[in-house]
Amino acid sequence: MKQYIQIECPFCHSDDLVKNGQSENGTQRYRCKACRKSFQGEYLYRAWLPEVKEQIIEQTLNSSGIRDISRSLRIAKNTVISELKKSPR
Ligand SMILES: [Zn+2]
Repeated sequence: MKQYIQIECPFCHSDDLVKNGQSENGTQRYRCKACRKSFQGEYLYRAWLPEVKEQIIEQTLNSSGIRDISRSLRIAKNTVISELKKSPR
């Protein structure tokens, strides 16, 4: 089974990305074809850590908006939304 990891541009949230080599510490770098910015893939994976999921839920309970959550946790809005859909209420 293929592992699916959602990666999107942190600047414009496009998923039209190309791999752009690796940084010195071995982190995969990506370049966004839409806005031409490059970024490290690493922090996007934060969304898949259990503690980040917990924080999403916790902030939702504190009635934070999706935009606030994505900004404070530095993850994509779509990731917050898909995480909320998965969570039991
Ligand atoms: Zn972009």
